[in-house]
Amino acid sequence: MPAYGDEIAGNASVLAYTDEVREKTDHLYAAVADFTPELEWRTLAPYIAAINDLKKEKNAVILAHNYMTPEIFNCVGDFAGDSLQLAKEAAQTDADIIVQAGVKFMADTSKILCPDKTVLIPDLGAGCSLAASISGADVRLLKEKYPGVPVVTYVNTNADVKAETDICCTSSNAVEIVEYAAKEWGTDTVLFLPDQYLAKNVAAMTDIKIITWAGACEVHERFTVDDIKELREANPGVIVLAHPECPPDVLAEADFAGSTSGMSNYVKDNQPKNVVMITECSMSDNVALQNPSVNFVRPCNLCPYMKKINLPKILRALQTMEYEITIPEEMAVKARQAIQRMIDLPLTRQSMYNHQNAPEVAATESRASL
Ligand code: SF4
Repeated sequence: MPAYGDEIAGNASVLAYTDEVREKTDHLYAAVADFTPELEWRTLAPYIAAINDLKKEKNAVILAHNYMTPEIFNCVGDFAGDSLQLAKEAAQTDADIIVQAGVKFMADTSKILCPDKTVLIPDLGAGCSLAASISGADVRLLKEKYPGVPVVTYVNTNADVKAETDICCTSSNAVEIVEYAAKEWGTDTVLFLPDQYLAKNVAAMTDIKIITWAGACEVHERFTVDDIKELREANPGVIVLAHPECPPDVLAEADFAGSTSGMSNYVKDNQPKNVVMITECSMSDNVALQNPSVNFVRPCNLCPYMKKINLPKILRALQTMEYEITIPEEMAVKARQAIQRMIDLPLTRQSMYNHQNAPEVAATESRASL
């Protein structure tokens, strides 16, 4: 039994690399061959074949985030992208079942947008340090402290937080959403929750005053300026792309900063000779597959939550219909309004963050200060 199959006890027939499996999966191997030795492929292919068969049988789709491993991203994912792209796909799909190959707040978002569909997360432990940093009760206290100030929250939040939100944003549209919220609510200040670094990076790009929360992504906050300097020394001429969940001094050292889709588009459009992505590890693998002439330097931090999702767990989710996402109706209605406002806005530009001097935000709140 291959190690990868240990999690699917009692399903040995599905796991064999048979002629039938080979016929069903050979055409997919080219997409991941650079990262997957043939021997390993033989352990993965039976899961890929079984998942793709079950998707057809059950009218299911898999939404794969950019941080999924290449075999999930390329071989079983029906739609791939960043949080915003996946949220839009979730809203439009005709499938009866959505399997979220990502973390739980993304599955929550899919369920909020598609209340009549069955939404599954293959592992309930696929959480997020950022989403866990704040609760709906925290947001209610902030609203009491700052009456009349619109609440913009990053989509990387749980449903109870979205239900207390006026409008959601992603890292790709954050600046424009903050400016929209201030104008629409007639204020010069916006509560921007919960990522303190994204808040600072947004504050550097707008005149709107921003009050934020002491949350952080444990993957991106670990990158430092020294990491980038060492990379440049070891790889002269390398182009450095960074995600705006990184601290502002890290972004200031980068050549370009943008969301996962922003970074992916940068590589596609500019085809740099050598590039490094200051973000989660699988991102480089997936973008490299789409840009074979670009050399990727690969220091990265793994997201332990994203990496809880693997092929055996996706197969098990489709077989057992676990773990189904449920959200209380009243909470879902309020959260849907916040997400839908973002989706419905005719946004005209991507947020760009490559600045040199990030100002301090007006205030950074924490539970202790409320
Ligand atoms: S990469 Fe960061 S923001 Fe994304 S799921 Fe992991 S901890 Fe959360």
